[in-house]
Amino acid sequence: MTVDWKKQIRRLTDQGAAYADVRYYPKEEEDILFMWNGNLLAFDRSETSGFGVRVLADGAWGFAASSNLTGVADTFDRALENAKAAARRITRPIRLADKDALSGRFESPCEIDPFELPLADRVAMMKDLDSMVNQAGVEQRRVQMSTVRKTIFYYDSEGAEIEKRIHDIYPSIHVAAMDKDGVQQERKYLPPRLGPTRGWETMDRGHWQGEAERILGDLSELLQAPPCPKGRMSVILMPDMMFLQVHETIGHALELDRILGYELSFAGGSFVRLEDFGKLQYGSKKLNARADATLINSPGSFGYDDDGVKAQDRMLIRDGILVGAITSRQMVTEANEKAGRQIFDGSGGACRSCAFNRVPIERMTNINVDPGNDGSLEDIIGKTERGVLLSGEKSWSIGSNREQFHFATDIGWLVEDGQKKGVVKNCAYSGMTLDFYRSLSAVGDQSTWQVQYVDNCGKGVPGQVMQLGHGVPVCRFDHVKVGD
Ligand SMILES: [Zn+2]
Repeated sequence: MTVDWKKQIRRLTDQGAAYADVRYYPKEEEDILFMWNGNLLAFDRSETSGFGVRVLADGAWGFAASSNLTGVADTFDRALENAKAAARRITRPIRLADKDALSGRFESPCEIDPFELPLADRVAMMKDLDSMVNQAGVEQRRVQMSTVRKTIFYYDSEGAEIEKRIHDIYPSIHVAAMDKDGVQQERKYLPPRLGPTRGWETMDRGHWQGEAERILGDLSELLQAPPCPKGRMSVILMPDMMFLQVHETIGHALELDRILGYELSFAGGSFVRLEDFGKLQYGSKKLNARADATLINSPGSFGYDDDGVKAQDRMLIRDGILVGAITSRQMVTEANEKAGRQIFDGSGGACRSCAFNRVPIERMTNINVDPGNDGSLEDIIGKTERGVLLSGEKSWSIGSNREQFHFATDIGWLVEDGQKKGVVKNCAYSGMTLDFYRSLSAVGDQSTWQVQYVDNCGKGVPGQVMQLGHGVPVCRFDHVKVGD
């Protein structure tokens, strides 16, 4: 069935809507496979389609969605009715920042589409990964793989016409065993984005073999390792821990809707205030962070956001000073009005919805930390007096305003007098966000920089799970509270 989406949008603006857009998902597919000790324990396949209509009328949003293409006009009408009903209750009218009227197409790079492969081939690959870690002493082996494929058409009343085709693949292996004290220890591998694409061709067997051997070696050392020492010392975070540190204490803290208080009922707020932009010393001079939605191989890149704004690369923190946020068209206008000055010069293109039946909200794109000039991992270790090198996020607890945090990691190595020593287990560290980033004393170069993905970031009411990325280098922080 062909629907004239632009005609429906015109119908609403003819009835007085200030703005309207529609996102039509002809098909969104997701496969989730889970193998436990060599047995395929779960295979979930979901397939959805539908469209969501967002209307701005009398200063308020209205939204309606349906998976039924036979009642399209009714759904558009309902969105307008919802906006008019909401308009009776608003305290301030919503205004959208200006944008260019765009027409465009985005396709995530993918050479081999996993959905075009027989399911048996994907299961065989998982079996192969399982066999790589099936060794004596390993008590639990988990191999997970989810694949996503979706097409989205977007139209709005300002003339945008956008088509997006997105592929992604999220594989991982986990190994676990009981240590000599009867505590479970675990190592895992979630591959960073190594090549320029996002398809099945990224599943390089030789690469997995090397990584499987590495995590097996780590696990066997963990089982015999002493506990992590406690006290104040340096922590060196590998990218597979640094990405989560950045996610929780830069990414979520700098979502503009949180800063304005919109997420308080669910995901929480932010310690950042509007008056902080342009002057808050967020970290040491070595800290440069950005929201970069133009990284070609990451799930945080999507071409155009759900405001119809083109993907951008924007600085968040420059030389340690807070300069930007993760923004949408609505929130930048509200923030500028509330601050009484122009903090933001337009949307940063970070307004996204996880599905056709959810409203778009501020979401992280790729929240990255730039590589620095403190050399390789070995260079940083060589200049560290006393500390721990930490890898693999294990648990996390974050203040609802992101002002403080506590993380545990899968593994650590002692570092003393510039030397990497033995493995230590049950590692944890904690701190206050600003004190922590201000203690950033070394940032690794490009050789240490990796793009890690997050496939399960939760936010919004009703809840939305989103995929994104973090390009981060190895980083060292000093005088950090370690242990407990
Ligand atoms: Zn998150």
